[in-house]
Amino acid sequence: MQLQIRNLSKTYSNGVVALDKVSLNIPSGMFGLLGPNGAGKSTLMRTLATLQECDSGSVFFGELDVLDDKDEIRRLLGYLPQDFGLYPKVTAYELLDHFAVLKGLSNRTRRREVVDGLLQQTNLFDVRHQRLGGFSGGMRQRFGIAQALLGDPQLIIVDEPTAGLDPEERVRFHNLLSDIGDDKTVLLSTHIVSDVADLCANMAIINKGHVLLSGPTQSLIDAVRDKIWARFVDKKDLASFQQRHAVISSRLLSGRTLIHVYSDSDPGEGFEEAIGELEDVYFATIAGRHRAAAEL
Ligand code: ADP
Repeated sequence: MQLQIRNLSKTYSNGVVALDKVSLNIPSGMFGLLGPNGAGKSTLMRTLATLQECDSGSVFFGELDVLDDKDEIRRLLGYLPQDFGLYPKVTAYELLDHFAVLKGLSNRTRRREVVDGLLQQTNLFDVRHQRLGGFSGGMRQRFGIAQALLGDPQLIIVDEPTAGLDPEERVRFHNLLSDIGDDKTVLLSTHIVSDVADLCANMAIINKGHVLLSGPTQSLIDAVRDKIWARFVDKKDLASFQQRHAVISSRLLSGRTLIHVYSDSDPGEGFEEAIGELEDVYFATIAGRHRAAAEL
């Protein structure tokens, strides 16, 4: 089902404009909401999860008015918040069973099936009788997904789920998310470009409460083809390159500084055309260099 967000705005009481007329069409499948810290992602996620009021705008999930029909939407919703608190002294099984009761799964046999199934799906079955306090960050996040999937939700919202996970756990977590299925609408908010590159067929880039770019991930990458140029520079020359060229990123590669420049034509000075990746789309967009929008 499609999630349709129109002109959503939110200003906090301290005057911070967290969302400024945000409009997005989010089809079913995995959708990545990418932006730096402070972009407004969590504000948007909490509003969609019915935990926070916005000032104006509308959100529809299919026919359902998300901002008005809160009880209805909660029945269809699974949510993994950014800071998911757990009770450290209870076991994974006990807490998931407790959440299942809260979700209305009163039949004991059925509940056991569902809880066991989710623990298996999230690869936590073998540790189900361990206390949550001893879980690693990755195990905690997988438990977070297990509770978000209770009640077979149609709309799943996960806020910065891979922050702080080691690479192996990130891959594991990605595999888990990608198995959720294309028939659900999964909204993933993150500041980590590879989360979106690996998982999301559709995406948006948001910064300072504005949607800067949205569309199918591959078309957004295709749109920077022929525009990204790369070369190694001496660290001491970086500032002067930044003055002469639209440098969108600089990073160390094997101890040398590799810069990427955004340019419609060959910038000269020994630059070579690079294969544009999602990271280039992201940095060029955040830097205000790139605006080509591919409509969903
Ligand atoms: P993100 O999730 O992308 O990091 P947030 O939605 O958390 O962004 O924050 C967007 C902006 O709103 C930031 O400038 C943040 O400091 C501010 N903000 C978030 N929550 C509050 C709040 N409860 N009161 C005031 N300002 C807030």
